[in-house]
Amino acid sequence: MKKILFLFFTIIQAFAAVSMEELTWENGDTLLKFLQRNSIPMSLYYNLDKEDQELASEIAYKTKYQILKDDNNNIEQILIPISDDLQIHIYKDLNKQYVLNFTPILYNKENRILRINVKTSAYQDVYEESKSATLARAMVRAFRGSINFRNIQKGDEIILYYEQKRRMGKLFGDIIIKMARIEINKNSQEIFYFNENYYDKNGKEVESFLLDKPVNYLRISSKFSTARYHPVLKRYRAHLGIDYAAPTGTPVKSAGNGTIIFVGTQNGYGNVVKVQHASGYTTLYAHLSRFAKIKKGQKVKQGQVIAYVGSTGMSTGPHLHFGVYLNNKAINPNSVIKIAKTQLNKKDLDEFKKVVNAHEKKINLFIQDNKENPPKEEDFENYIELDSI
Ligand SMILES: [Zn+2]
Repeated sequence: MKKILFLFFTIIQAFAAVSMEELTWENGDTLLKFLQRNSIPMSLYYNLDKEDQELASEIAYKTKYQILKDDNNNIEQILIPISDDLQIHIYKDLNKQYVLNFTPILYNKENRILRINVKTSAYQDVYEESKSATLARAMVRAFRGSINFRNIQKGDEIILYYEQKRRMGKLFGDIIIKMARIEINKNSQEIFYFNENYYDKNGKEVESFLLDKPVNYLRISSKFSTARYHPVLKRYRAHLGIDYAAPTGTPVKSAGNGTIIFVGTQNGYGNVVKVQHASGYTTLYAHLSRFAKIKKGQKVKQGQVIAYVGSTGMSTGPHLHFGVYLNNKAINPNSVIKIAKTQLNKKDLDEFKKVVNAHEKKINLFIQDNKENPPKEEDFENYIELDSI
């Protein structure tokens, strides 16, 4: 029976669903406008609960999404990624009614080691050897604050141990450099990824981009997650920021020096301010009751009041939703906020040392066995570059 069913579905797919379009999310587009434009009932959006409506505001500009259509140009399915782990899935159920779900994005994780001798520049050579710009960018990000690229010279060696994701044969999402060893002028330097930060071999955090807390809060009402299964609701959820509960009117401060790039409303998020900082970071402040005297294009200092806490948009009570993005991708604000410890505590340090030993062993074996670099990738351009302002 299963076999017959499978055949049945294959035939339907072969005959009915004839085209798959890959499109790019436009600047300022919203899920609601998208549904309307494609003649899909807007109730799909209105029936979502507040948290999911808020999450639907997170579809990033330039995100690539897919639409599957049948012979008659009717939409059968839509997949819109929200984070590296979660996507919006719109499809027709057995009664031919559209349904909207948040579903996990399925991918495989692969660990790879790449070893190069610098001929031109670290970035260029890593790119040439891997054909993955995502990997070269991940290296630059990992080295930031610890390795001065100007000190790297021809003949220096770079070894990267990293984790990448593959989806439908293509590289997908971000790459994490788990360990890097770099030999500059015969001096070896190592960094390790642990608890979303980079540390040297002794567990001391390498200098990173840091932000201040944006508000004096009473408590954290919701933490950051890219995809987590809600056991009670029996479905997937994500929360791409931190919610700080605070009374309406509490001043909201810019987490760092930067430039205001958005002041206005953004559907689920209500009143929103966005600030662009150095090195590709942006911060988002949502559900604000009102704005301070600020406007787009204005420079702001760290700690400068930019707005006031409120409950606008899809919100259950006064709080600040604070989001941090690196090149338009939501990252855990805790990884860049100043509470991050610069030295690991005893318990973490023990765990960290195990990681160091395991990673070093892998790299040393790779060198000892004189293993070859992984095959060159066809880089799937999934990286979202910020427009310069
Ligand atoms: Zn929130």
